[in-house]
Amino acid sequence: MNSYELIKSRFQKRALSGVLAREITSYKTGGEIDLIVYPQTQEEIVWLFDILVKRNIDYFICGNATNILVSDDGFRGVFIKTDMLNKINTKDNEISVDCGFKWDNMIEICVNKGLAGLEKTSYIPGTVGGAVKMNAGAFEQETFDKLISFSVLDIKGDIKKIEKSNINYGYRKVEGIDECFILNALFKFDYGDANELKKIREEIISKRKIKQPLDYPSAGSVFKRPKNNYASKLIDECGLKGLRIGDAEVSAKHCGFIINKGNAKSSDIYNLILKIKEEVYKKTSIDLELEQIIVGKF
Ligand SMILES: Cc1cc2nc3c(=O)[nH]c(=O)nc-3n(C[C@H](O)[C@H](O)[C@H](O)COP(=O)(O)OP(=O)(O)OC[C@H]3O[C@@H](n4cnc5c(N)ncnc54)[C@H](O)[C@@H]3O)c2cc1C
Repeated sequence: MNSYELIKSRFQKRALSGVLAREITSYKTGGEIDLIVYPQTQEEIVWLFDILVKRNIDYFICGNATNILVSDDGFRGVFIKTDMLNKINTKDNEISVDCGFKWDNMIEICVNKGLAGLEKTSYIPGTVGGAVKMNAGAFEQETFDKLISFSVLDIKGDIKKIEKSNINYGYRKVEGIDECFILNALFKFDYGDANELKKIREEIISKRKIKQPLDYPSAGSVFKRPKNNYASKLIDECGLKGLRIGDAEVSAKHCGFIINKGNAKSSDIYNLILKIKEEVYKKTSIDLELEQIIVGKF
């Protein structure tokens, strides 16, 4: 039996072929993915990982696909989609949560329980796994602020608990976990006032709605914040607001975002990224670093 048939025989309706990346990514672009698999248990992930690693099949671990740009040619390999890994347990001020749980749903639970420390990250549209991998954050708060530990499955098939204190992390980066599957995470929050936290959450959500082009598909900020500066400010100052390739456009509302105005191809977005980098470097000598993850061949 070939590898895809073997995987399909185990996962049945939770292994789909022929899905287009544009159907699952927040950019709404990208071509056909060979196979998307939706594991439901740790045991299934271990089994799947073993097959993929031993048989040398390319794979991509995919949360809510809100920080990725997938090639128009799609992906020759397996997307492991974490949607069905979504248990959450709260005990006092600690939350243990699976990778596929939606980040903003967890933040809403925290806020309602009066658990403080990550309320300003409200409305980030990814999953817990994606947030840990990216050390996602906003308004001076980031995932690792309240993270205690997380467990991963590594490519050797070992499940390990990683304490935050044993890992190097920083602004939108976490070192040493590149090929690992993040299974779940443990957070410990401060005690706060639920009404106060709800107010902050509402303010953050309305700020985001005002400042971000949420009416169009995007994957959030394209570039990381350069030292002592803002990518969106630099892009604006370089006169790139509204710059367009195909249907991909530098948002006039927030120059740090590239939006899909309708039928953008991933290659339009990719070429626009290269153009922005080139122009900003020419004018400021600052080399903007990509925050988004490129998947497949460009
Ligand atoms: C409108 C909009 C606003 C945004 N605002 C913000 C913001 O304010 N701050 C911010 O930081 N980001 C922001 N983002 C980007 C994005 O939402 C975050 O980076 C988010 O954490 C990505 O989570 P995800 O589940 O969508 O990950 P994906 O996009 O699916 O994947 C991102 C990376 O995480 C990895 N990954 C995902 N799950 C796992 C797992 N279980 N194990 C191992 N690796 C995994 C993937 O392999 C990939 O490398 C925004 C995006 C959009 C569309």
